[in-house]
Order: sequence, then structure tokens, then C-alpha cells
Amino acid sequence: MVQVRRVQPDGGMNDSTMIGGVHLALIGGSGTFSLNFPDDLEYPGVRVLERDLVLETPFGSSPPLKLFSLPTDPPRRVLTVKMHGRLPGVSWGDASRRLFWVFKAAGVKKIVAEGGVGSVNPLLDPLDLVIPTDYLDFSLRKDVSLGEDFLCIMRQPICPQVHRALAAVAKSWEFGRVFTRGTYVVTEGRHFESPAEVSMFRQWGGDIVGQTLCPEVYLAREIGACYAGVYLVVNYGEGVVKPWEYDVLRNIFFDQAAPLGRMLLQALQEVPLDPCCCSGFRKPTLLHEGNIGKGRSK
Ligand SMILES: [Zn+2]
Repeated sequence: MVQVRRVQPDGGMNDSTMIGGVHLALIGGSGTFSLNFPDDLEYPGVRVLERDLVLETPFGSSPPLKLFSLPTDPPRRVLTVKMHGRLPGVSWGDASRRLFWVFKAAGVKKIVAEGGVGSVNPLLDPLDLVIPTDYLDFSLRKDVSLGEDFLCIMRQPICPQVHRALAAVAKSWEFGRVFTRGTYVVTEGRHFESPAEVSMFRQWGGDIVGQTLCPEVYLAREIGACYAGVYLVVNYGEGVVKPWEYDVLRNIFFDQAAPLGRMLLQALQEVPLDPCCCSGFRKPTLLHEGNIGKGRSK
């Protein structure tokens, strides 16, 4: 357990609050945005333990978090945040840094993310679900990290264990098709992409496009947590198949939130909590002052 100061709604500080023993996090995105998650789902045995949990971090106040427990034995505790923890007037990279600082303090080891994405691969249609295995980062948020202690190796960026659990649960639900391989192209946003950009992403091997997988995947690796996400295709990328329709996107936004939310609650119960191979991709940095002068001369 770590002592962290809680920020009051008026900006004042509360007494220290203890945070720890939280093994799982769910980063909510546009897929569940229209829900008061998880309350609205009335999922048997899910209990909300804390609401509006805003904590002081070295990078500023965290986004408001919710802590809930799952009907597992013992009950799993999950921290969740809306819309990837974005905060008004704060850059998306900085908001992510505050969020992951809290995850680290709480002891989070497994992270599941969700969101809506555009298609880049012409085989995809709206309502398809993609659980990607890799990414191409075209965002400008390159230097987002909590510190300089680690060399983060991105050889296998998505956790195979969390990915497997998400895929198994997704296939048992009545969504459209489920794709368990794919490359997520990350753009800076907030706007969508141009036809020429989508065409380039396709030629470079992208399958879907969105704005959130990076830097989350970097920060997860930095705090030693496993990370995987599930993404609902809500529109065709520009120039792919046919012009997408706002009504279709809006209907998916409202109609699919509850089934997606329930599927995520089931997946969070089934993600293995054991250590996995992801931890081997984080190494201590060699770039610290103590190593100066230690170079071996021949
Ligand atoms: Zn892992």
C-alpha cells in the first residue's frame, strides 16, 4: 500500500489515502463512454468501492478514477477511468502519465483498454472487433514516460496472456466478427485521417486507426504491467470501402456500449493474474551516471 494525497473537488488536498492491492485496470474509451460504467450494467456481484478518486501525482492531479470489485474469489479490485483519462486543458500525453503513475502506485499489473477505431484494412466493417497485436505510432507523443529508469523493449508490445483472455471472451459474445491479429495505427487526433494518410497506413501494414494505444503501451511496459486492448470498428477509414455514415457511428456509440461493457467485465474476471513474459521486456537503463568510467578498455 502506498500513501497518496487525495485531491478535493475544490483543488484542496485531503489527508493521505492508502492505495494498493489493485491488480487490474480498465482504461475506458469511446466504446463505453455513453455508460455510467460499471454501475449502469447492474452486473451481478460487481461493487463500486470508490468514485471520483483524484490523486496527487508528480505530474499533476490524476483524472477521476473509479475503483470496483469483481465477483471473483477473492474479489478482484479494478481501477477504471473514462476516455483514457483525458483532462481538459492537459495534453493527452501528460494525462496518460498521471494515470499510469496512479496505476503504478496502486500495484496494477494487468491493463485492458477499449476504444472505437476506424478501419484501414478493407476487409473490416463497422461492428467488427479487433484485438491488435502490434502498432505503428504516428502520434507526436514520443517522450511520454514516468522516468528514465528503464529500457523498454517493444518486441512483443501486446501481452499474449491478456490478449488470449480477451480473444476467448470476445468470441463467445454476439458481436460482429472478431479479429485477433492486427496492427493499430496511432495518430495524434483529435481529427480523423485524410484519404492519403489512410492509404499510406494501409501500404505500411496498418489495419485499424485510432488515437490511444500509444503512449499507453509504452507506459504499461515502463511500470511493469501487461497491456492489451479490444477495439470496435465504428467507421471506415477515409477512402476505404465507402464513405462512412455518422448515423452508423452514433448508433454503435450508444447501442454497443452495454454489451461491450459486460464483455469487458467478464474478460477482467478471466485475465490470468500470474506474472508473464512481458516483464522480460523491461530492463534497467544503462544510461546513468554510475556507469560513466566503467567502460571496458581493451
Ligand atoms: Zn503479459
